[in-house]
Parts: sequence; structure tokens; C-alpha cells
Amino acid sequence: MEQGLMLKVFDSRMKKVYRMELEEYVKYAVASAMPADFPMEALKSQAVCCRTIAVRRMRIFGGSGCTRYPEYDVCTDPGHCQGFSDKLGEIPESIKKAVEETSGLILTYNGNPVEALYHDTCGGYTEDSENVLGNKISYLRKVECGFCSDSPHYVTRRIITIKNLKKKLGVNFDSATGKVDIKGIFEEIKTTGSGRIKRIKVGDREFSGEEIKELLSINSNKLNWKVVAIALEIMGKGHGLGMCQYGARGMALKGQDFANILKHYFTGTEVEKIKMPSEDNPLIFKKIAVDPGKGSEDDLCGPMGLSEGFINYEMARVLREILSKEGAKVILTRNNNEKKDLMERIRVINDFDPDLFISLQQNFLKPDREGYVEIFYLPGDKEGKRLAECIKEAFISNLKVQAVSYEADLFLLRECKCPGVMIFTCNLNCPREEKRISEEKYRKNVAQTIFSGIILYYYGLTLK
Ligand SMILES: [Zn+2]
Ligand SMILES: [Zn+2]
Repeated sequence: MEQGLMLKVFDSRMKKVYRMELEEYVKYAVASAMPADFPMEALKSQAVCCRTIAVRRMRIFGGSGCTRYPEYDVCTDPGHCQGFSDKLGEIPESIKKAVEETSGLILTYNGNPVEALYHDTCGGYTEDSENVLGNKISYLRKVECGFCSDSPHYVTRRIITIKNLKKKLGVNFDSATGKVDIKGIFEEIKTTGSGRIKRIKVGDREFSGEEIKELLSINSNKLNWKVVAIALEIMGKGHGLGMCQYGARGMALKGQDFANILKHYFTGTEVEKIKMPSEDNPLIFKKIAVDPGKGSEDDLCGPMGLSEGFINYEMARVLREILSKEGAKVILTRNNNEKKDLMERIRVINDFDPDLFISLQQNFLKPDREGYVEIFYLPGDKEGKRLAECIKEAFISNLKVQAVSYEADLFLLRECKCPGVMIFTCNLNCPREEKRISEEKYRKNVAQTIFSGIILYYYGLTLK
């Protein structure tokens, strides 16, 4: 199934481009991410993470490619998309096996590929996404790990001099020299008039100056001190989000399989086969916004009293049903026949970040103008134009109406950040058209026709 799923990889270090099959790419990504001698189930969980990260970016699955190098699906910068072993042709057997045994499997949340982040060692607990990325992601939650204490990075120590600390952080402060208190170490210092130590509490014990001199074998008890270095104790390695790799290793050694490992670190997720668009779900991974134009206020009606806002909403509802059934994620800009102003509806569309939007409207023209469907797109919007052409074709062949498409610099078209069209499906001032669109069956036909146009736009083929 995944055969032929090609990936464009940009090697950001060598400035090279690789075109390779997804499954082949995953091997190089795993080879860069995890030591090949990790247990098989840990390698398999890593393979699923690497594959999921790639799939999430691929345009065929609704991704937007690498955001830094948008011509490509992924880059090889581990800090951006994900790392990639540049030892081409030298993939260890264990990694090949792990990738092959998980072929086509990805990690999903509500059916969508997740941002399957991983890190070396969490140090006991993973982290909540909002503390690192700033936004809350439902599947990147803090979880207890308890499997990574074997990691060489579980606790590491480093001594950093004050001089180095100032330099690295670009700060300056006085590290005072003198008889200064250092909480918990040197406290309650009493000196003689000449500056010799009379009494001092070191830790939990008091000493006389003379004792200090003797015990430390120093020349005198007239002394000063200063902090010159700090020993840091570092727990874990990496950002702490998603899968703890040493934790995955620990879980695998305890007999857990890769699916359990992944579900432990990614809250509420499932391991699933990649779903490819097919006849059963041609619009899978597509996000479509449907905008029922006009709300209930200043809502115009036809001669029979049929309200435009109502018609637009009812048609949008049916269109949403059809598109969802075919696999698309759909949002409506308003619910029920509520009033919602244009800016608010545009905001809904842009927040949803869809692949395209369809705005449904009705015309109010001279009563004798009959049988026209008008489709508008923004001047210069090539995709919008193609979508308009496809929907026009569908109207002409399915409903035998005169459909026309125009470019128009309309506010809604201009403000939405994705391709889209505005469709005026009837002339509500024409009594015959008003009657026709008042019928549920006709409205359903219109929605079905718009769906056919969308299929034509994506696949260049006509479904019934
Ligand atoms: Zn990237
Ligand atoms: Zn851990």
C-alpha cells in the first residue's frame, strides 16, 4: 500500500536533495535517532515515531511540508523536522527489521498523525507540551516514566566555573570575596577585631577559628572566601516531550511491545495503518471550511418569504454531511441559523486552516433571470480559479444549469488564507427558483454537485 509513497528530503547540512520511498527514509531517520543495539520493540516504536513525523508533513496526507524548506517534505535538521543518517546504504540489520515489521504504521490521535516527538532520557517524568512549546497538545502530556534509570543520561553532573557561567549567560554579577555567608555551608560567622575567624558554623557544626586552621591545614584563620564554581546535577537529556527513548528501551526490556510503549508516552493515541485516499474516503486528510453566508439579521427573503440565511445554512449542513462521509474534516462558519458577522466567519475559516473553503450564497437579481449559478474566485488565486472551474463543470453536467465563473475582488475571498470560492446557487427573487430551492431534495442535489466539483478539483475525475 505504501509502495511508491515518495518523499522529498532536504539535507540541510550538505544542501543535497534525496527523493526516496517513505519506508526507505524511515530507516535512515531511525538510524540517526536511536542506537541500533536497542531492543527490537524500542526500535519499532522509534520507527513508528519517525514514520509519523514524515507522514504528518507530507502534502498527500494534508501536511504542509517542512516549514523551513517548503519545497520539501522534510529536512534533516534534528532540531526542525528530524535527523537523518547520512551513511547511505549502511543501515544496521536490526533497524531494517524494525522498520519492515512496522511498515505503514503510524501513531494517530483522532485519526490524524501526531507530532511524534521523542527525546533521549526524560529523567523520571516527561513534560507537558505547553511548558516547552507554549501550546497544549492533548497527546503530549506529562507521564511518569520510571523506565530510563539505566540511561547514561539519567543524571549527569557538570562543574561550571562562575567565570564560565557569566560568559555563557552573558551576565555579570559580583561574586563577593570576603567573609560572606553561603547558606547551608558557611554561616553565623564571628570574627576578631583583626579579621580572624572567632567562630563559624560549617554545615551543622560550629568551629573555632583555631580548629578550622588545624583541620584544613591552612596557614592562618584570617581568611576570606568566594564561590568560584557550581556543580550542576542534570536529570535526563532532551526536551522531555513525547517518547523517552531510554524509557522505550526499559519498557522493551520488561517485555512491552512497541504499541504499548507508544501509547504510554503519547496519551490517547492509536497505532494505525496509514490511510491512503481511496474510493471509500477520497477526501481523507482534507480540511474543508463551508461558509453559509449571511446570518439571521438583515437576512433577505424571496417573494415566498424563503430566507437566504436559512437556505445557505441548510445547504451547508448537507454539504458537510457529504464531505465528512467521504473522509474530509469539515467546519461550518456558523451553526444553526445563528447570526454571525463576516469577520467572525472569516476568523473561523482561518483558525481552522483548511485546504479550501466554499462559501454558499444566493442571488437577488431581476425576477426573470433564471437558471444561473455564479461562482466567484479571487483574481490571481490559481487554485481558487481551478476549483471554480471544476465546480462549474459539475453544475453544468449534473444539474444542467448555466454555471458561470468570474474573478472578483470580494472581501471574503481576499481575507481567507486558502483557496476558495463563493457560489451563488440561485436567484431567490425568481419565484420558480425560490420554489425549487425550498425543496430539500434539490438542495441535496446542489450539495452533491459541489462535492463532485471538489472531487474533480482533487482527482480530475467525476464521481456520480
Ligand atoms: Zn524541516
Ligand atoms: Zn524516561
